[in-house]
Amino acid sequence: DRGLMWFRRDLRVQDNAALHHALKHCRQVWCVFVFDTEILDPLPRADRRVEFIHASVLELDAGLRALGARHGRERTGLIVRHAAAREDIPRLARQLHVQAVFTNHDDEPAALARDAQVLGALAHAGVMLHSHKDHVIFERREVLTQAGQPFGVFTPYKNAWLRKIEPFFLKAYPVDKYAPALAPLPDAMDGPLPRMSDLDFETTNLSKLPMPTGASGAQTLLADFMERIERYDTARDFPAVKGPSYLSVHLRFGTVSVRQLASLAWQMHLQGMKGASTWLSELIWRDFYHQILANFPHVVSKAFRPEYDKVRFEHGKHAQALFAAWCEGRTGYPLVDAAMAQINQTGYMHNRLRMVVASFLVKDLGIDWRWGERYFAEKLIDFDLAANNGGWQWAASTGCDAQPWFRIFNPVTQSEKFDPQGKFIRRYLPQLAGLSDAAIHAPWKAPELELVAADVRLGQTYPNPIVDHAIARERTLERYAVVKRCP
Ligand code: FAD
Repeated sequence: DRGLMWFRRDLRVQDNAALHHALKHCRQVWCVFVFDTEILDPLPRADRRVEFIHASVLELDAGLRALGARHGRERTGLIVRHAAAREDIPRLARQLHVQAVFTNHDDEPAALARDAQVLGALAHAGVMLHSHKDHVIFERREVLTQAGQPFGVFTPYKNAWLRKIEPFFLKAYPVDKYAPALAPLPDAMDGPLPRMSDLDFETTNLSKLPMPTGASGAQTLLADFMERIERYDTARDFPAVKGPSYLSVHLRFGTVSVRQLASLAWQMHLQGMKGASTWLSELIWRDFYHQILANFPHVVSKAFRPEYDKVRFEHGKHAQALFAAWCEGRTGYPLVDAAMAQINQTGYMHNRLRMVVASFLVKDLGIDWRWGERYFAEKLIDFDLAANNGGWQWAASTGCDAQPWFRIFNPVTQSEKFDPQGKFIRRYLPQLAGLSDAAIHAPWKAPELELVAADVRLGQTYPNPIVDHAIARERTLERYAVVKRCP
């Protein structure tokens, strides 16, 4: 009857599956978050995600205190540790003499390995580990084909998802009425919470970005998005327009409940609102890639379809130099460079641009998609192994339901189509701001007089293109032809 709630990627009080079960089934519940040294130690000392988590953990602590106080419980709150979670959770469970630890599923391979170790150590001490689905609507093998197999193609998955969905799966897990089970913090654990510097991290520019943290930040973004969701289907592809929800980082760290979002979207979808239907589809893509990772974990390092592992990408010094130019936004293709400036300066990148830069890296520069995947994993504040891997394999045509390999984005056409007035480009590449709407997508084609007037000196104030798209395209078709020749 004593339980420990272990928060991970579910940093909220309301509608939290594991917290609900812990409070409902135990007489006394402590709550813990571990800043896991095994995850944090390899990271650079300034990382927006650590700061996002830190701020959200502070809010979670305040939320648990307030929840306890409303029910006459004093000194409830969050125990915050800085240690290796796989050793610390069993240690804490022993110290608090709990009979069970409650947590929510995390299906990333490293998390599964950690949880298996924790389970073993807890079992040794006679403590149970209860894990719950919380992060997605349907997971693992919940949505299967008629033949009982996991789906590898999105549209039939989505149709099956929509057939299966009903209010039961979207209902919030009530927490308030069970709050009296929150236990007071032991004296030794009621000290001030660690600061960023205690964790050995510097602060970043996060607080200057329009990326509010914590459960309250998520609700602010959600309220704003609800004003625009009707136009989502038409606005979502234009990076200069405030089209999407910007909720990905909140979904990543669970500062918002996916059930709350999917339930809103589903109701509006049933009323026939197109924007909501398209947005619901995006949430279903998220479930789709999570079940891909859970059912086909080889995707972490290999192509979803093995024949694509035969494709040979560029390597050596030249490839390294091209890759560095891509990372630093020096390719000479303005939309690509502006997109890379966005991820480097803010940790976010618009979905259309993720597709454009990923395609450019793989199909214009001939570089292994895994290099790009790794770079995104370092930089994206919403980095999520399942969605990132899925997105990269889609762009590289190696994945499930991927872009066919012979379909190759033209970075200039994409720019003309999705940033027609060059508004997004001008925001991130002010050195090109003086060019006309027609010239800004491909400055090397601009008349000399216009370049002079706009004070653009190619090769000096802005690079010349590092590849010729037409030539690169032919090379890519050859590179991928091995797949066709595969038995
Ligand atoms: P919205 O348009 O408001 O969409 C709502 C939510 O749906 C998102 O928050 C996200 O959780 C989910 N979603 C939307 N599109 C996708 C998608 N294609 N796949 C899976 N889920 C989706 N998304 C991540 O969350 N983390 C990643 O690391 C990530 N890496 C990507 C890498 C590449 C190469 C590509 C092409 C896409 C990647 N995406 C990733 C998907 C998508 O770009 C982002 O989810 C989206 O841009 C986040 O912005 P938003 O919250 O405003 O999205």
